[in-house]
Amino acid sequence: MLYNLHTHKASETENVFEIVNQYPYDFDPKAHFFSIGIHPWYIDPENLDRHLKIVEEKLQLPNCMALGECGLDKRIDTPLDFQVSVFEKQLVFAQKYKKPVILHCVSAYQEVIEIKKKLKIEEPMIIHGFSKNFQVAKSLLDNGFYLSFGKYLLRNLELASVFEKVPNDRFFMETDTIEETIQEVYNKASLIKNIEVEQQVENNFKKVFQI
Ligand SMILES: [Zn+2]
Repeated sequence: MLYNLHTHKASETENVFEIVNQYPYDFDPKAHFFSIGIHPWYIDPENLDRHLKIVEEKLQLPNCMALGECGLDKRIDTPLDFQVSVFEKQLVFAQKYKKPVILHCVSAYQEVIEIKKKLKIEEPMIIHGFSKNFQVAKSLLDNGFYLSFGKYLLRNLELASVFEKVPNDRFFMETDTIEETIQEVYNKASLIKNIEVEQQVENNFKKVFQI
């Protein structure tokens, strides 16, 4: 079984277990396994309370694997303190319903680390689409985060040396929005790590998502 942490489109492929991202304003009730959250790009102030309510409601479904993607993004116009308030409200739900968190984080790693500490979050937190250097990876790993790799592992040659050093029990694989299959991501990862990545990610997935 290939485990795909994060995708926006169900592949409906046999032998793939995938967490399909859902938005509160566009929920697909047919999704087998999903995550749901308010992405910082799509915060809608006029409908925020309604969207938060939907997130809380769907999070309680047994096939909801995680909160997210949610997080912080410093490259958008939405003020950071507003993003933080929406993010923190969702994190409280993750704590209440004991769900892991799939994070979108752009240039706000220190802020996300501080929020995890401040709210004393014990649920696993996974940075999706990781693409930064090992210094950033290390500070996240030291603070208990998991890292998920996909697009940039295929596109960015320098990321291989970062991925190589990530402890085997702390990473996931994902396709997010790319056209390549999750098998292609696993092939690349196995070449870099020189281990059986499939088995490793299966172990990580079962531990973090308690399946
Ligand atoms: Zn995504």
